[in-house]
This record gives sequence, structure tokens and C-alpha cells, in this order.
Amino acid sequence: MKLDIAVLGAGPAGLGAGYRLARQSRAHWMIFESTGRIGGLSSSRVDAKGFTWDIGGHVIFSGYPLFNKVVERALGADALTHTRESYIRTAGRFIPFPLQNNIHSLPPRAMRECLEGLIAVEQRGDTAIPAHFGDWIPWRLGDGISRHFMTPYNSKLWASPLEEMGYYWIENRISVPASSEIINAAKKKAVNHSWGPNATFHFPRRGGTGGLFIQIAAGFAPHISLRHEAVRVDVKRKTITFHNGSKVSYGSLITTAPLDHFVKKMLNAPEPDILRAAAGLKHNSGLVVGIGINRFIKNSRCWVYFPDTAVPFYRVTYFSNYSPFNVPRPGAQTSFMCEISTGITQKRNASTIVKETVDGLVKSGLIRPNDRRRIASAWMLKVPYLYPIPSLRRDAALGPIEQFLRQHNISSVGRFGGWRYETGNMDHSFIAGHDAAAALL
Ligand SMILES: Cc1cc2nc3c(=O)[nH]c(=O)nc-3n(C[C@H](O)[C@H](O)[C@H](O)COP(=O)(O)OP(=O)(O)OC[C@H]3O[C@@H](n4cnc5c(N)ncnc54)[C@H](O)[C@@H]3O)c2cc1C
Repeated sequence: MKLDIAVLGAGPAGLGAGYRLARQSRAHWMIFESTGRIGGLSSSRVDAKGFTWDIGGHVIFSGYPLFNKVVERALGADALTHTRESYIRTAGRFIPFPLQNNIHSLPPRAMRECLEGLIAVEQRGDTAIPAHFGDWIPWRLGDGISRHFMTPYNSKLWASPLEEMGYYWIENRISVPASSEIINAAKKKAVNHSWGPNATFHFPRRGGTGGLFIQIAAGFAPHISLRHEAVRVDVKRKTITFHNGSKVSYGSLITTAPLDHFVKKMLNAPEPDILRAAAGLKHNSGLVVGIGINRFIKNSRCWVYFPDTAVPFYRVTYFSNYSPFNVPRPGAQTSFMCEISTGITQKRNASTIVKETVDGLVKSGLIRPNDRRRIASAWMLKVPYLYPIPSLRRDAALGPIEQFLRQHNISSVGRFGGWRYETGNMDHSFIAGHDAAAALL
């Protein structure tokens, strides 16, 4: 087969490319997806007991008008809208998120420590700019907030040394109010849930997050070949070889496969400096555990963050609150989706993680001890690529790789194709794929 444009991956980025390519009639193009499923990390599954699960807590929100239009067309009246209500579980309490905007909800001693830290930040005056994320946290938010939430939580989430991470990615990801604002909010004791771009979000009524991408893909289904894993890309001959031995030739290639894997395993004869650069791309991995309970737990929580190392998960989503159809018996069951990171600083045992997760849910008060008897489903998924780490060396690694790929008419886009956490959401990935395709037309 001879194609003008080949796309690897039917996740949001590949589908963004497809969405754009489907709006022209001249180029011959195909999307090849290694699995039998649409949506990549944004896909969903229905387990053997009928519970729907995502790959960790996904919520749909965007500042891109095009992405919002695509979502609206795909979901129509099936787009449920939620106001975020999320918490941090610490000191035996549920503190409204972001903690730095709600420190008055902490126990008095912890609140005092946070305030003292903030006052010290205010009074410190100019000091040298921190060298890494690990130092940035107390430097910007004070020792108290660092100790009570930010440092333990981020260590758990990234499962990588914070000293090897930059902090260039924090805009829209971490609330950084001025110290005076935090102190004033603490005086007023006003609960503030409203920070951040996902304060309001959408979720599909049926099919989980993946339901959105299945709808989008339906618009150009004949252009998608599932179960086609690309195993070799010959940049000189411009051919792709698939796991079954079949081959296609292409004029331009858009890849959304993890960039380190693409360079190390898929490129034929990669140059040594490109290989060295790819070794500088770091990521963590993870496990997602879904626990379905035969009891309807009535509350309006969306998700809870867990800095505490006594429980394995860093975040738990009240998934049945996103859509009643995420459980087989709406109104009679509750589902919890729990995310666990693994990486160089944190290992987990997949064979015991479900039990540890249930224990953690009981310990942190999300379920009752006797809910153990009401467990209707216990589901688990290993996720080899969870978060691209915004490391200190990331951009130095990306530079030569991107230059090499450009020279060979290859765009690598999306969460792990682009390897930029700060633009690693569904909407960013969709738009990156869309724009890569537009640039080729
Ligand atoms: C825990 C978690 C929570 C998240 N929460 C949110 C959220 O709330 N909101 C949000 O907007 N985003 C969220 N995201 C990000 C979202 O999942 C990603 O932005 C999105 O899925 C990235 O799309 P992508 O197409 O770049 O990559 P992927 O989704 O990874 O898709 C890549 C596709 O390429 C395929 N592929 C890989 N290699 C090959 C190959 N060799 N040949 C053929 N096909 C191949 C894969 O099978 C996959 O289907 C979250 C991610 C995680 C992990």
C-alpha cells in the first residue's frame, strides 16, 4: 500500500490528525493502531461484572474552541457537565483542593505551620531561583504546605526524584496564589473549590471517556486499521513494517507512539546521538485499580488526592459520580477508580495491589470495613506509560530528536509522542495531531 500520510495510533492525537485529514479529499491516508481499541490512554473498558473504567481519572475540559466543538458534536446531549469537587485526604480530614487555597480547613497546628511557612516566604525577599522542582515547592509555597501536601504528594505521583524535575510545567497544573492571598483566604475561612481550568468539566453519559473518542472515530472509520502494530520505520525508504510482516510506504508520517520507544525500537539504524537523547526521556508507569461496591454512597465528590504513603494510591475518583452508567446498577452501586504510580523511587506489587487498595479505601474512610463483603468488582490494569516526567534534561533531549524527525518528514505528537506533560492532555493531543495533519496538507 502507498500512502501520502500514515498515522500511528488511534488515541486522541491520531484521531485529531484523522479529523483534519477527513476534511480533505486528495491525500491517501490511514491510521494504524496496535491494539483493537480506539482511544489509547483515553480509552475505556467494561469489566466482566459490567463496570466501566477509564485509565485513571479523565475529565473533559478545554480552552480550544475546535476541541470543544468536536466534543459537543460527538456527545451532544450525552455530555454530562460537572462542577469539580475534589479533596486532599490528610490529617484525618478531607481538605478542599487546592490545599494552598484552603489551609483553614487543616487542623490548627498544621494550618499554623503552613501560615508560618508562607510568612517566611513573604519576608524572605529575593533569593536565588531554585534549581529544581524539589526546591521550588518550599521556596514558593513555604515549608508547611510543602511538608503537609506538596512534597509527599508529588513524590508519590511522579515516583521519581523531585530533584531531577524542572518546574517549567506548573502553569494551570499547580495553584500558586500569592502568600498574602493564601493568608487572607485562611482568615476568611471561605472554602474555595474553583481554582483551575477543570473547575467545570464534561463526561460522556455512556462508554466512559473512551465513548467520546469512539464517536469521533466513527466519522472516518474506514481510515482506521486496528491491530496493526508498527514495529519498524525505515526513514530512507519511507516504509512502515507491521508486526504481521505487512508493509506500507508513506510520504509523511505522524506518530503518536511513545517517543523513546519509537527512537530506540522502531527506527531502523538510529544515529547514536539520537539514541543518547532518547535515553534522557523519563516517564513513570502505573496501575489502575477499579473497585465496584454493591452500595450507593451518596456524596458529590469527584476525586480525592492522597499524599499519605500508608495507602498505595495517589488519587481516587468517585467514578460512579461522573455518570450513573459507569456501574451496571445505577443508584445501587458505587465505583472507585484508584491510580497508583510506579517508577524509580516507588515499586508496587501488582499481585497484591487490589487487596492493598481495598485496605487503603477502608483506612482512609472512603468505604466501610463491611463494604469488603459488598465488593461486586475488583479490576486492575497495568499502564506502562503513565506520565512523561518534566525532567531538567527533557528539552535538551527533545531538541535533536525532533530535528532528526523533521528532516525525515515525521511529526511525533501527543502525550508521549510529544513528551511534554504541560501539553499532554486529551485536548492538547487532539489539537497537536490536527495541526500536524494541517501542516502536511
Ligand atoms: C492517569 C491519567 C489521567 C489523565 N487525565 C486526563 C484528564 O483528566 N483530562 C485530559 O484531558 N487528559 C488526561 N490525561 C491525558 C490523556 O490520557 C492523554 O492526553 C491522551 O490519551 C493522549 O493521547 P495520545 O493520542 O497522544 O496518546 P495515547 O492516548 O497514548 O494513544 C496512543 C495510541 O498509539 C497506539 N500505538 C502506540 N504504539 C504504536 C505502534 N507502534 N503502532 C501503532 N499504534 C501504536 C497506542 O496503542 C495508543 O492507542 C490523563 C492521562 C493519564 C495517564
